[in-house]
Amino acid sequence: MLRPLVLLFAVAIVAAPASPAAAQQPRRTPPRRRPPSVAAPRIPTPRSVLGFEPGEDRKLADWPTLVRYYQALAAASDRMRYRELGHSTLGAPLIALAISSPQNLRALDRYRELNARLADPRGFKTPKEAEDVLRLGKTVVLITSGIHSTEVGGHLTPAGLAYRLASDTSLATRAILDNVILWLVPSLNPDGVSIVTRWYNRTLGTPAEGTDPPELYHHYTGHDNNRDWYAFTQVETQLVVDSIYNVWHPQIVHDIHQQDTDGSRLFLPPYLDPIEPNVDPLLVDGVNALGTAMAWTLAGQGKTGIQRSVRRVDARPGLPALPWRRPHPVGGGEREPRVADRPALRPAGDARPRLQPARTVLELQQSLAGRSLVVA
Ligand SMILES: [Zn+2]
Repeated sequence: MLRPLVLLFAVAIVAAPASPAAAQQPRRTPPRRRPPSVAAPRIPTPRSVLGFEPGEDRKLADWPTLVRYYQALAAASDRMRYRELGHSTLGAPLIALAISSPQNLRALDRYRELNARLADPRGFKTPKEAEDVLRLGKTVVLITSGIHSTEVGGHLTPAGLAYRLASDTSLATRAILDNVILWLVPSLNPDGVSIVTRWYNRTLGTPAEGTDPPELYHHYTGHDNNRDWYAFTQVETQLVVDSIYNVWHPQIVHDIHQQDTDGSRLFLPPYLDPIEPNVDPLLVDGVNALGTAMAWTLAGQGKTGIQRSVRRVDARPGLPALPWRRPHPVGGGEREPRVADRPALRPAGDARPRLQPARTVLELQQSLAGRSLVVA
């Protein structure tokens, strides 16, 4: 069934304020008519390109329309860079947006290099070098969305999020932009966006409305496209891993799906044991602390439907959990590869880092704790 358009995140749309210059005009004879306000950088709203507000009932956008929106956003905003990673199975552009402060975006290469040093700390000769890099670097976050194309909130949430980050002038958003380099992949399966949207629009108002399309929304793997994060057989997986994951080494990966109407709106760490034993316990504790902080914040805002300590592990690997998930011993009988089995995600060589891994992770955690890590 096509799920209703309940977005995973409440996306507060903040209108661009009137230009401060307009408010500071010298007092002269009041004009008869208020002059048109000179808008601050005009950031296109999703509605202006999609024709509706993300989340509006019975409205979906196909992939070319969404791409047009992201191109328009990037053209209008100095907080955003548009990048085409390659092409999907059916030839659609697979895209990513780098979102951060204009200053950070001008130094993207430098921040990538700093993060690469943290990801493989064997190059550090002294702990001081690691501390310096931690101080100078930025938190890198990867948000991917829409791998399951009938979970249509995943098509549209990134449009709202990108608009908010491009247009919001609040202190909180500016702090995020100053401290975080966000890579937003608005769809991990662009073909599916158009397949589902076409079918939905064709069947709208008929008895077939809300049914799954009669073709796979990923032509080779269908709904199992998210089981490809250990085998890397599909071009979409390869592009994201090769262009972003293994290049930027994000500290946080957040993959947006959508639950059914009776599911939770968001599930957060801590997840249930067992956790992949090759992952440093400090990292697990850090992820749990982050999940708890998010749940706490959302509960304080009166949000409901936030679930924790759920059995997320479905015996198959997925991008957000790649480094640390492990199948439940009684579930499915499948074996999830360990870190050591995943050459594409493993740093070259098998030597242990010169720094104690625990120390490195602790420093990373301390670094993360000192920054604004609001990712949704
Ligand atoms: Zn899903």
